[in-house]
Amino acid sequence: MILPAGGVPTNPVTRFAPSITGWLHLGHVAHAVFVWGIARAVGAEVIVRLEDHDTGRFRPEYEAAILEDLAWLGFLDEVGRARLSRQSDDWGVYEAALRRLPDVYACDCTRQDLAADHDAAEEVPYTGRCRRRGLVYAPGKRWRVPLDGDCVEFTDLLLGFQRQVPAEQCGDLAVRGTNGDWSYQFAVVVDDDRQGVNLVIRGEDLLSSTGRQIRLGTMLGRAPPAVFAHHPLVRDDSGDKLNKRDGALGIRTLRADGMTAEELLGLAAARVGLIERPEALSSSELGGLFQVS
Ligand code: GLU
Repeated sequence: MILPAGGVPTNPVTRFAPSITGWLHLGHVAHAVFVWGIARAVGAEVIVRLEDHDTGRFRPEYEAAILEDLAWLGFLDEVGRARLSRQSDDWGVYEAALRRLPDVYACDCTRQDLAADHDAAEEVPYTGRCRRRGLVYAPGKRWRVPLDGDCVEFTDLLLGFQRQVPAEQCGDLAVRGTNGDWSYQFAVVVDDDRQGVNLVIRGEDLLSSTGRQIRLGTMLGRAPPAVFAHHPLVRDDSGDKLNKRDGALGIRTLRADGMTAEELLGLAAARVGLIERPEALSSSELGGLFQVS
């Protein structure tokens, strides 16, 4: 795969940032192939960031398994050497960032309020109902930050020019949930900024988050935004993205079936079109899948 040389930041820093809410599967392996492959091709540092902001779904055994699977796949050196971070190590950084956001307000809309008149599958833009109600924050309410209707434009390293209007997609962004958890959108922006991540590599399922994350970053004083590279996903037979319940393609299952790490990396690379058919690939060969030109 060709990466446009002009699009790669100088002194690139990227990250592998799994949510600690389940076991890794073939989709995560493909993601690791992109992260470490591109990192090697462009000389980027990789941070392994354990995203445990969803405290209701976090389980310590997932974290242990993720690190063990990464080591087995051949990324141990990087995990050992690189900056390994965990969101729960310091929730104070999110508190501090929240204080830098302008006009944050409390919202007591229920899921039913938010979903009224909308199809369950579509993203429901928040109406702004609580924007001027002056509610006092208390557990059980969300924190939101107002978004204006500005358009965000960026050039994705793999997908080219993109234009998004976050206010139309999601409305005022939730930064903290009703149980006090930091939202994915907020935590990821704070982390990418404080860790100096200037090259975000992730699946195409997160493309629609990027405009809002660039906007949030600007509100927090970040300039310029990171470069984003959204890669294809591993799909199941019906064309859907894999999820954590697809046990058959879980790394643990594939390992137990006798697959080697090299076979698994090659299978993942083939499933996302980086190579024509599965062949054994070691983690140190992944940089060869990408050319900067
Ligand atoms: N933790 C997120 C996930 O596993 C990815 C975060 C990101 O790449 O922005 O889906």
